[in-house]
Amino acid sequence: MTLVPLVGLCDKEKLRILKRLDQFREWNSLDDRRYCLVCGEIITGRELRVIRDKAGKAPQRVACPTDDCNAIPMEWVWPTDDVLIKIAMVELECCHLRLMTQAGRALRLRKKDRTS
Ligand SMILES: [Zn+2]
Repeated sequence: MTLVPLVGLCDKEKLRILKRLDQFREWNSLDDRRYCLVCGEIITGRELRVIRDKAGKAPQRVACPTDDCNAIPMEWVWPTDDVLIKIAMVELECCHLRLMTQAGRALRLRKKDRTS
């Protein structure tokens, strides 16, 4: 089965497809946002890709717009405060780690300077 993206959908149609294929959370508009648990991106209904079987005309599934992300609607959660805080914490952690690495490198360089 070859899956191809379904393009050229009007907003109304796309929203209807989203509502039908995402049975976990309701979509009120294409501007609704979701947090993808797989790739960690905030996505909107507008960005989602609708995939269909090449042979058939009916839309088969909706896919995350992120390259190589195969998340399914079940993995798209509402970006509530909880989720947004978690994202911020992870980003902070990454930033913190980067700073630590840089500081460590700087310290090592300084030590090298002193010993040589
Ligand atoms: Zn994703």
